[in-house]
Amino acid sequence: MKSISLEGMNLLRFELLSEQAGLVHAVTTRPHNLAPHRAADRELATENRRRLCAALGLEFDKLTAATQMHGAEVLPVAEGDAGRGREGRHNAVPFVDGLITDRRGVGLLSMSADCPTVLVYDPAHRAVGVAHASWRGTLGGIAANLVAQMQRSFGCRPSDLMAGIGPSAGPCCYEVKDDVRRVAATRLEHVHRLIPSRGGRFFLDLWATLESQLLEAGVPQANIEQARLCTMCDQRFFSHRRDGASTGRFGLLGALKPVQ
Ligand SMILES: [Zn+2]
Repeated sequence: MKSISLEGMNLLRFELLSEQAGLVHAVTTRPHNLAPHRAADRELATENRRRLCAALGLEFDKLTAATQMHGAEVLPVAEGDAGRGREGRHNAVPFVDGLITDRRGVGLLSMSADCPTVLVYDPAHRAVGVAHASWRGTLGGIAANLVAQMQRSFGCRPSDLMAGIGPSAGPCCYEVKDDVRRVAATRLEHVHRLIPSRGGRFFLDLWATLESQLLEAGVPQANIEQARLCTMCDQRFFSHRRDGASTGRFGLLGALKPVQ
């Protein structure tokens, strides 16, 4: 990912997607917590979200987020949804972990502290989507669902889609216990590749699992970028496993460039 500094925030962008003139996107880093329901500095989270929107030239009032249930559901942003969840989970779009839109200037925010986030963009049909892909959501097929809903809602062709898989706990660190491994094994075709074992411990490769879903859905390999940044190794990110449940959240924001 490319590093940039805007409004005093250190942000990252997917190299592949940063060349797309119709797309605005960024991944945030510490110390800027974006979760108004988490961390010691939670009262700063809304201000950080405002700063992020200002940095990207987006209206904060249209910033939209899902409640993030660790599921695999994805919804298009409906007429009354734009702006939901901008100040916290209480009025976020319920029951889903992914949002898609073809409305310009509507920022879609996905938050994380170890879970991968996924961004998809269709330059041909002008649509964008983001998802929070927890291990449950990943095994439930959230990346495939993201592509399917882009097709269903906006007539996107998977071969036009571009995708970024954000920073998360990587295969270097993301150990899963046997109960998770057993569930994962029922869902994954290449278990030994996607859940490698080292020294009798099992590690789930969320990046490869999400990429394989995108490929299977028809997104070309050349259009997929993996950040390959591990939130447990890399101190720039909040990490639930490293820092505990009360840590903050970083975010992935994606939007179609607003009308000038
Ligand atoms: Zn790691």
